[in-house]
Amino acid sequence: MKPVERHLADILGTVRPLAPLEVDLERALGTVLAEDVTAPVSLPPFDNSAMDGYAVRAGDVVNVPVSLSVTEDVAAGDGALRAIGSGMVARIMTGAPVPAGADAVVPVEWTDAGRTQVTIHKQVQPGNAIRLIGEDVRAGDVVLREGTRIGAAQLGILAGVGRRRVRVRPQPRVVVLSTGAELAEPGTPLGPGQIWESNSFMLAAAVREAGAEGFRAGAVTDDPNRFLDILDAQLLRADAVITSGGVSMGAYEPVKEALAPLGRVVFEKVAMQPGMPQGFGLVGDDNVPIFTLPGNPVSAFVSFVLFVRPALRQMQGLPATLPETVRATTTAPLHSPPGRRSFLRAILTGGTVAPVHGQGSHQLAALASANALVIVPEDVTVLAEGATVEVIPL
Ligand code: AMP
Ligand code: MG
Repeated sequence: MKPVERHLADILGTVRPLAPLEVDLERALGTVLAEDVTAPVSLPPFDNSAMDGYAVRAGDVVNVPVSLSVTEDVAAGDGALRAIGSGMVARIMTGAPVPAGADAVVPVEWTDAGRTQVTIHKQVQPGNAIRLIGEDVRAGDVVLREGTRIGAAQLGILAGVGRRRVRVRPQPRVVVLSTGAELAEPGTPLGPGQIWESNSFMLAAAVREAGAEGFRAGAVTDDPNRFLDILDAQLLRADAVITSGGVSMGAYEPVKEALAPLGRVVFEKVAMQPGMPQGFGLVGDDNVPIFTLPGNPVSAFVSFVLFVRPALRQMQGLPATLPETVRATTTAPLHSPPGRRSFLRAILTGGTVAPVHGQGSHQLAALASANALVIVPEDVTVLAEGATVEVIPL
C-alpha cells in the first residue's frame, strides 16, 4: 500500500497555483495576496486629534484652572487652519488636523466645554491626545506581504492605504460530486434501501472552510456514462473536482469505471484508515485536478483533511503540508490495523485526548461530535491508556 506522505507528495507535485489576477477590493475577501502592498503615504497622513477637546499650547496650561479664548472650531476633514497663538485654543474634534502652534489636545472632560472662552482644570503634557503623522505606517512601508490571506482586517488596511484594486490568487472553484444509487436528497423522503446524501454538503463546506469556493453538483447514480457527462459539464466552472463514492473494489463503481480507462486518474490503496481507496489525477482539456474520495462519509472527510486541503492551499499559493499535529495523552487504549495509519475520531481537551464511541467509517455522528483525529502509526496496533499520541485538531 502507498504511504500517506507519498500520496500527498504526488498530489502536490501535480497541482499548480492558480494564476494571479487583479480584483476590485469588494471581491478580494478570502483571496491570497500575490504582491507586496506598500503604503503610498504615511498613516496617519497628518498630526490629528485623538479626542474631542481643545488644541492648546501645553505651556499655557501649567497653572490650572486657566481660562483661554477659543479662536475657532476644527472638525474632522477641515483643511486650511489658522495657527494657534499664545493664550489661545481651538475647539477640536477627533480626527481633525492639529493646527500649527498647538502641541497638545486637552480632552473636553477636563474643561467646562466653553465655546468662546474655555476653563481647563487639568495640566496637560506636550503631545497629549495627538496622533502623530506616520505612527501607524510610514510612506513606503510594506503593510501586507505576498501570500497573506485577505480577511476583514487585511481588507481594512488595503482600503486604508488607498488601494482599490489588488493582485491576488483567486479562491479555487471546487465542484463536489457524489455518486451512489442509494442517495436521496435531504429534505425528500427516504425510499427502501436509501440513505440521505451527506458527502456533498460536508465536502462543499470543508472546501469553504479551506478558503475556496465549493459548489455542490449533487448526486449521480451509479452509471459511469452519466457520471462522465455530468463531470464534463461541471468542468467548465471548476479549478478542481472532488467526487465521493464509487472507487472501491465492488461492482457499480462509476467513478473508477469511468475514469480508469482514460489513464490520467490513478486509483490506489493508501495505507490509512479510514480512507484506503483513493484516486487522484487530471481531467479535461484544462488538466483540472480531480480527487476521487471514498464514499463512506468519515473516510471522505479524513481524505479531505489529509490530501485535498493541502492541495487547495497550494492552489492559493500558500505553504502546503500534512495537517499540523499536537501531542496529547490518550485517556483510553487505541487499536489500529497493522500496516495502516489510523486517524481515530476523538475529543481533545487540554493535554488529553479521548476517542469517541463509534469508530466506523460510516459513523458520521461520531465524527460530528469529535474535535480531533488521533494518529496511530502504521507499525503500531495497540496503544495503552496514558500513551502520548499525535493529534490533528479539527
Ligand atoms: P462507495 O464508496 O460508493 O462504495 O460507498 C461507501 C459507503 O458510503 C456506502 O455505504 C455508501 O452508501 C456511503 N456513501 C457513499 N456516498 C455517500 C454520500 N454522498 N453520502 C452519504 N453516504 C454515502
Ligand atoms: Mg457507491
